[in-house]
Amino acid sequence: MQYKEKVSILGSGAAGLTAAIYTARAGLNPLVIQGLQAGGQLTITTDVENFPGFPKGILGPELMEEMHKQAERFGTRLIYDMAESVDVTRRPFRITTSQDEILTDTLIVCTGASAKLLGHDSELKLMGHGVSACATCDGFFFKDKDVVVVGGGDTALEEACFLTRFCRSVTIIHRRSHFRASAIMVERVKQQQKISLLVDSVLDEILGVEQGAVTGIKVRNVATGSISELAVDGVFIAIGHKPNTELLEGQLELTESGYIKTVGVKTAIPGVFAAGDVQDERYRQAITAAGSGCMAALEAQWFLEGLAHKAVVSSTTCEIASDVEHVKTKVRKKAAQAERLTVA
Ligand SMILES: Cc1cc2nc3c(=O)[nH]c(=O)nc-3n(C[C@H](O)[C@H](O)[C@H](O)COP(=O)(O)OP(=O)(O)OC[C@H]3O[C@@H](n4cnc5c(N)ncnc54)[C@H](O)[C@@H]3O)c2cc1C
Repeated sequence: MQYKEKVSILGSGAAGLTAAIYTARAGLNPLVIQGLQAGGQLTITTDVENFPGFPKGILGPELMEEMHKQAERFGTRLIYDMAESVDVTRRPFRITTSQDEILTDTLIVCTGASAKLLGHDSELKLMGHGVSACATCDGFFFKDKDVVVVGGGDTALEEACFLTRFCRSVTIIHRRSHFRASAIMVERVKQQQKISLLVDSVLDEILGVEQGAVTGIKVRNVATGSISELAVDGVFIAIGHKPNTELLEGQLELTESGYIKTVGVKTAIPGVFAAGDVQDERYRQAITAAGSGCMAALEAQWFLEGLAHKAVVSSTTCEIASDVEHVKTKVRKKAAQAERLTVA
């Protein structure tokens, strides 16, 4: 089926649903294509304690459910489908999903950036129960606990330093003997008494699935093949993020690491906006995603108002041009009449 929209939003995380709330309240009747993870990344975590308005904290899935209801209340339509391709080279823009071709005057891309994971079963089962991909989000829950950070880049080392504010001990597990991180970060980590390094090592398994909480890990030394167990309360995976932008390759300008390039929330194509983690390599928080979702909604609203204004101006210009033509014809007729009278 083919149909036309004023505002289409890709993604139903904090950015997409906030953009939906704003555009719906502006009477633009937005359409949200939810993607495979309805509600976005916060649906895979437990307590969220840093989203303003919830002094006692709120469960991630509950927060997203509330945002969903709020967006629906003002007339947002949400479909369980996934954008398979997008064409922003002609207007209206086109989104192809598994079911439909959607034509749209504006497009707000909020497809997020997924944290890369190790791929162990135990990692998924214990996500939000001792396993995390965000130290800023979850570090606070590990006061006086022992944790490990997996990764060897700047982010992993920064997360490890951040965690020393709360944790009793932080062990960095890195598969090589040298760190990819900058020398200054490596030096900073070495100065930290709470941090120890376990290099040439990979995390083989996270223990505690039966208990429903992390109790330890199995670590394999890649040089010797020996496996050892370490008792820990938390595992932070810090091996990078992957922005969900495959379907935009060749359509929108991307950064080297694949995030959408924006100025504020504007892409280089007027009418196409991006919000949330998909365009934010630095902060990646629910509140910043929501904030930029609001910005994208307002920009889309103003863009549509601009289009409407241009349409009025161009139809007024046509009316004036036809009036002028009418007057010119009258003047020509009068002149011809006058000429005939003079001759007579
Ligand atoms: C374990 C964990 C815990 C976290 N805890 C916190 C916390 O406590 N506090 C905090 O502020 N932040 C936290 N974060 C970060 C927070 O979840 C993100 O910053 C936030 O979800 C970003 O929102 P978003 O809308 O940009 O993207 P996402 O939440 O990633 O949503 C992306 C959306 O895009 C959709 N999508 C993807 N591809 C397509 C497609 N092709 N077509 C249509 N839809 C598509 C997905 O289905 C999804 O709905 C946590 C993250 C993780 C992983």
